[in-house]
Amino acid sequence: MSKDSILVINCGSSSLKFAVINPTTEEEKINGIAERMNSSEAVLNWKINGEKGSLPLGQAAHEAALEAIVGLLREEGLMASISAIGHRVVHGGEKFSQSCLVTDEVLQAIEDGTKLAPLHSPANLAGIRAAQKIFPGLPNVVVFDTAFHQTMPAEAYLYPIPYSLYKDHGVRRYGFHGTSYRYVGQAAADMLGLDINDSNLVVAHLGNGASACAIKNGKSIDTTMGLTPLEGLVMGTRSGDVDPNLFNFLNKTLGYTLDEATDMLNKKSGLLGLSEMDSDCRVIQEAAAQGNEHAQLTLDVFCHVLAEKVAGFAAAMGKIDALVFTGGIGENSSVIRKNVLERLSIFGFKLDEKLNDETFRGKSGVITQEGSTVAMVVATNEELMISRDTQALTA
Ligand code: AMP
Repeated sequence: MSKDSILVINCGSSSLKFAVINPTTEEEKINGIAERMNSSEAVLNWKINGEKGSLPLGQAAHEAALEAIVGLLREEGLMASISAIGHRVVHGGEKFSQSCLVTDEVLQAIEDGTKLAPLHSPANLAGIRAAQKIFPGLPNVVVFDTAFHQTMPAEAYLYPIPYSLYKDHGVRRYGFHGTSYRYVGQAAADMLGLDINDSNLVVAHLGNGASACAIKNGKSIDTTMGLTPLEGLVMGTRSGDVDPNLFNFLNKTLGYTLDEATDMLNKKSGLLGLSEMDSDCRVIQEAAAQGNEHAQLTLDVFCHVLAEKVAGFAAAMGKIDALVFTGGIGENSSVIRKNVLERLSIFGFKLDEKLNDETFRGKSGVITQEGSTVAMVVATNEELMISRDTQALTA
C-alpha cells in the first residue's frame, strides 16, 4: 500500500477529532471523533465508506483515545497508508506565521504560549505528544488557527490600551479560523476566476464559533476575533463584542465573580443567551418562521453585527470582489444570508433567491444575480488544508 495519506488530528479539552485524507485526490478515507473524554461516557464515533461505527472508551484521555483510533485504523487496513500526522493547533501567538514540522523547539514555543490559550494549548500539546509516542516513526506537523492573520497590519491588531501590555505580554488581536480562511479564500478566487494576489474578499465563517476576515491579495488584513475567540460576531454561546465595562457592572452590581462573568460571556450568551431557546441557529430560525418575534429579533441582532463588520472591512479594502459565506450557518442558512445581504445593499448586493435557497449541505456557488456585487457560499474544509500543509512539509 502506498503511503499516500495524512492522519489529521484536532484535539480539544474533551474531544479528539480525526480524519485520514489523501491530500492529492482529496479523498477522506475515514473521519471520526472521540467525545466526552475524561468522563466515564467517553466514546469514539466514526464514519467510513458511508457506514457509522461506535466504541465506548471508558475513562479515556487523549493518549487512550488515540490508541483506540490506531486500533480502528489497523482494523480498517488504513495504517500503512499514513505518511505523517497533521495537528490543528489553536494558538501560535506571534511566533508562527505558517505551519511547521514539530521539533522540541516548536513544542516549547507552543508551551510558552499557553497563557494565551489556557484551555486549548494543553489539549493540543497532549495530542501531539500522544501521536509522537504512538507513531514514533512518523513526522508531525502543526497548523495554527492564528497563523494566517499574522499578516495583519499593526493598526488592525493593536488594542488602544497601554502599549506595554502588547510589548511585555502579547496582548493584541490574533484572530482565529485562519486555516478555514486560507482554504475558502483560495477556493473562492479559483471559482470566480480571480487572481488571489489581486483580489478583495470578505469571508464570514459562521459556525458555532463565528468570525469574519478581510482578505486582500490573499492576505488577512483584519479579522473580528481578538486575543481570544470571544471577540467580534454573535456566536452560538459566545457574546462577541460587548462593552468591556460589563465585567465591572456584573461584579459590582450583581456580584458575579470574574470566572462567572467569563463563563457567562463564553457559554451562556450569543444565540443561546439572547434567544433563551438554543445555541443552534436552526431552532431559532424555525421559531422565527412560526412567528416568534423574539426569535426573529435574535437573528436580526446576529445579522446586524455581521453586516456592520462586513461593511467596515469592505470600506477598509476600498473594494469588495466577493462576500463569501462558510461554516455551518454560512453554508446552510439561506435565511441568514438573505438577511445580511439586505442590510448590505449599499455595496450593490442583489440576491438571487433561487440560487440562495438551493445552496446548502456542502454545495458551493454564487448566490447573487448577474450584475450584482458577488456573494457566494464556499464549503470550508479545514482538514483538507491541514493534510495539504502536512504533505507539503513532509514530502
Ligand atoms: P459548525 O460549527 O461550522 O459545524 O456549525 C454548526 C452550526 O451550524 C450549528 O450550530 C447550526 O446553528 C448551524 N447550522 C447547521 N445547519 C443549519 C441550517 N440548515 N440552517 C441554519 N443553521 C444551520
